[in-house]
Amino acid sequence: MSNFDPEKYLRSHIKELIPYSSARDEYSGAGKVFLDANENPFEDSFNRYPDPYQHRLKKKISGIKDIPVENIFLGNGSDEAIDLILRAFGEPKKDSVVITPPTYGMYEVSARLNDLKIISIPLKGNFQLDTNKIREINGVFKIIFLCSPNNPTGTLLNREDIEKIIKMQNSIVVIDEAYIDFTKNESWSSSITNSSNLIVLQTLSKAWGMAGLRIGMAFANKRIIEVLNKIKPPYNISSTTQSTAYRQLEDQKSFNKKRDLIIGERERVYKILNEMDCVENIVNSEANFLLIRVTNAEKIYNLLLNKGIVVRNRSGLPLCDNSLRITIGTPEENDKLVSTLENLNSVR
Ligand SMILES: *Cc1c(COP(=O)(O)O)cnc(C)c1O
Repeated sequence: MSNFDPEKYLRSHIKELIPYSSARDEYSGAGKVFLDANENPFEDSFNRYPDPYQHRLKKKISGIKDIPVENIFLGNGSDEAIDLILRAFGEPKKDSVVITPPTYGMYEVSARLNDLKIISIPLKGNFQLDTNKIREINGVFKIIFLCSPNNPTGTLLNREDIEKIIKMQNSIVVIDEAYIDFTKNESWSSSITNSSNLIVLQTLSKAWGMAGLRIGMAFANKRIIEVLNKIKPPYNISSTTQSTAYRQLEDQKSFNKKRDLIIGERERVYKILNEMDCVENIVNSEANFLLIRVTNAEKIYNLLLNKGIVVRNRSGLPLCDNSLRITIGTPEENDKLVSTLENLNSVR
């Protein structure tokens, strides 16, 4: 067991905060006549407030992920979880957040929104953590965001490096595993019992195909989950979202099939693009996208756009010169991408 005490890292006003107590917080038994929440009494699908703690959905997720319900927080997308973590632990104008670009942009945006300081420690040329630099500032920062598989590179961060950072025991370590279903590598979620400073983020937006529903998951020590529950908006996930997600999660077979198809397409597209003159390098991806370095990213981006194909130009990010991030689509969509690129193969 680690001796990290998340309580010590909480902002003091949050320690003392008395949370809003909703009608459904104060009564959760088997009542039949609900005159407590100022709802419209005429029954249809939506007249009641949703379960603020999403018990039924969490139980389902608990079964799939093999994580106890008490260690699960659900947010309106991972983005809500990211914001709540920063708000719970980061003191505005005072505390610092470490990001390791190139990585997911929301960590920095959300930290800045919360008026926190950013310490940027770029990944090394092999897209791995600069653990020496991070160790040098051990104790200086409050929260660190690690993304593995990383967006926009698709690469995994070395386990030993992450282990070192967790063991430094001086910060909240957030590992964002939005793309975990596309890799055979093990999730960090099994480490939350032994590491009380660890928060693992996953989402139903990617492999599970529910980006439109907005459900993000945080797995952590029970005390951290309690804090997130305390400061979240009471009804952060709608009843339609909860029931639809539950139904989608029942269909593990279709999930597996689509995920495997996407992984197969990733390998197929990799091989084809790798042979093209306009492609200089492709990063080995463990996610559902490829980061490709091309001869002229802006030109190719615009040429693709003219054919109705929208990709992401990531050239502005460190280590991403002339790089496009291309999401793996359906086989037909990928074919269209390939044939379009073949026609403009000689772009310089
Ligand atoms: C897509 C993505 C998410 C998902 O965010 P949601 O708000 O759950 O849709 C989280 N982290 C990373 C790195 C992503 O790429």
